[in-house]
Amino acid sequence: MGIRVAKFGGSSLADASQFRKVKEIVLADPRRVYVVPSAPGKRNSSDIKITDMLYQCYALAEREQSYDEVFDRIAQRYMEIVQDLNLDFDIHGLLDEVRKGIGRAKSPDYSASRGEYINGVILANYLGWDFIDAKDVIKFDRQGNFAAEWTNEVLGEELAKHQHAVIPGFYGSFPNGEVRTFSRGGSDISGAVVARAARADLYENWTDVSGFLMADPRIVENPRSIEQLTYRELRELSYMGATVLHEDAIFPVHKAGIPTNIRNTNDPSHPGTMIVAQPSEVSYRHPITGIAGHKDFTLISVEKAMMNAELGFGRRVLQALEDFGVSFEHLPSGIDSMCVVVADKELKQRKDQIIERIRETCQPDSIEASSGLALIATVGYGMVRTRGTAARLFQALYEANVNVRMIDQGSSELNIIVGVDVADFEIALRAIYNAFVNV
Ligand code: ASP
Repeated sequence: MGIRVAKFGGSSLADASQFRKVKEIVLADPRRVYVVPSAPGKRNSSDIKITDMLYQCYALAEREQSYDEVFDRIAQRYMEIVQDLNLDFDIHGLLDEVRKGIGRAKSPDYSASRGEYINGVILANYLGWDFIDAKDVIKFDRQGNFAAEWTNEVLGEELAKHQHAVIPGFYGSFPNGEVRTFSRGGSDISGAVVARAARADLYENWTDVSGFLMADPRIVENPRSIEQLTYRELRELSYMGATVLHEDAIFPVHKAGIPTNIRNTNDPSHPGTMIVAQPSEVSYRHPITGIAGHKDFTLISVEKAMMNAELGFGRRVLQALEDFGVSFEHLPSGIDSMCVVVADKELKQRKDQIIERIRETCQPDSIEASSGLALIATVGYGMVRTRGTAARLFQALYEANVNVRMIDQGSSELNIIVGVDVADFEIALRAIYNAFVNV
């Protein structure tokens, strides 16, 4: 029998009725043997996430101010869950210990991690399963970087001792035992790491949506959901702004060849989206898998006759960016021209200095920086096998009266990226979607 690791997000564990759904899901399949919970999330749109309140407690403690009022609200939420579920354990003792610990540690990571910690203890009690403290099995190095191989070894050994266990998400520890968290939303990473160490057949990521949609529903009305995609397609889409899963949650499972299934706790019969390591027949069924985009990029275009024959030209252009600590996103180029696409938030105030530096070191015929660029990535393995994908995409943009300012087809043939004016972003995205989906 294969093993499954199920991670439940904050909204899936926001109150006692959500806990009941989680228990039902977990017990419905005996292959689900390890569970990774987040901290309780929002119960409604005006609610505050426990993690956010814990950061508030830390900020107050740091300033030597009382955080009792905020912590009381946190405690209230956990006590309600425990009472509603009729659990018989010392929640008051646990809450007291955490309340004091926050004041003692004065560490944002320690404080924030307690949301998952307490939730993990409650869930382990409710399921009647063992509790494994993530502090003992998820390892970071002294600089605070996640130590993947060390963790895999320690965690694998520990998991082997437990038939069923709850391992709280989001945190682990430095070599000296101090708590260290992943970045926000990091329980997704913990789940993936547990799946790898458990050599699971499947990593289930339970959230409040039934998987990925082909496009942002705020831009495209009722977009189709994605039945299956590969980790590489997901990487392209999430880099461009599609967020359901933490970006770093992809690596541990992708590396281990374990698929991830995004599922909806509030609609457990929906199969959700399956993310797989290798493309299969399903991947080629549609020419594209999804469309995502981002606004606010600047295009730096450098032109020089015979650039192609000038040794070191490209390096010097990129050196100028590196010298000012700016990383670039794309690099479409021609024989006598080179364009560098940079996110505005990277470029900040350094645009003029960078241009000056390129002028000095490259002596170009012309150089200009134009901002107000939006990028749209159309992603899909299917496009390799479908003739006319690019033609269809550009025809759609032409018909929608959108001017294309930049084109970049990734060397992987997995995506086509177009740059358009920020003002055309939504129109362009809808036009591409309709050209491929509503035909
Ligand atoms: N509770 C943490 C956060 O709000 C981690 C997570 O939910 O994945 O970011």
